[in-house]
Amino acid sequence: MARPKPSSNPAVLIATLLLASVGLGGAAYGLANLASPLSGDQQLSLALSVAAIACVTAAFGLLLGGKRQTALVVALLAAALAAGLDFLSVVKREAAPANVATARPPMQLPNVELWPGGVAPVCWSGPPLNEEGMRLQAAVGEAEKAWERVAAVKFQDMGACKAGMAAVKLEPVFNADNPETPTLGKGLLGQADTVKLAFAFPSRSGCTRAEDEEVLKTCVYGSAVHELGHVLGLPDDAYSQAADPACKALLRGDHAALAIPYRPASVMNVCDPSHAFGRLSDDDIGDIRSLYGKA
Ligand SMILES: [Zn+2]
Repeated sequence: MARPKPSSNPAVLIATLLLASVGLGGAAYGLANLASPLSGDQQLSLALSVAAIACVTAAFGLLLGGKRQTALVVALLAAALAAGLDFLSVVKREAAPANVATARPPMQLPNVELWPGGVAPVCWSGPPLNEEGMRLQAAVGEAEKAWERVAAVKFQDMGACKAGMAAVKLEPVFNADNPETPTLGKGLLGQADTVKLAFAFPSRSGCTRAEDEEVLKTCVYGSAVHELGHVLGLPDDAYSQAADPACKALLRGDHAALAIPYRPASVMNVCDPSHAFGRLSDDDIGDIRSLYGKA
């Protein structure tokens, strides 16, 4: 018995299968990128995906029916639809804001004044520091740089505070783990109270008996990143309406809840023990850029 002769070139079959799989892959990709509710782009993406699947199905049907040439054309259409889906996703990626700050809910509070040009003058209050104190002061300088690296801000160190100096008074303290800042942002200029920076930690675990100066420096650094965030105008996350009630209970005194977003991983969130390391999270970077722009 003679074998049935293929009705056409096997290359057509292979091309059809390849194009059909491209169409199917594109459709799957398009469907995977859908979110709810559907935006205009996504409605188009859904329609293209469904059309690509229909074409792939039709191409297989035509193949089975022996109509290879027609199947090839239909599979080509499926691949074209997949290309359209890819184009849509590229357009969407390019349209996404390059600066994460612009798409975020504002972290700035209405009554907080920011530093013009992002320049915050600071001076040092309190008795002169010993050698170790000066090394810890350098850790505060590192904390300043951490903010300066990610946003258009600059701490202008004026040295020791003098009467009438227009600068935020920073004061090293040795008796509080989480000293409170008198206010936020430029309003600090008018405050007689200093911004206290912890240089010793009576009860913070891991920092209490930091005989190792490197450990103590890390603790001072983490604490300073938080306090300097206040100097720049960032509030404590614990005041957010969305903050965990157990977290709010940690705050001293009665504080009205603020209409600010809650960033669990923020260095401004004292409820998360890891904030003490002063590692700026993506949220922190987005927040500070939403106030001052990129570095
Ligand atoms: Zn705070």
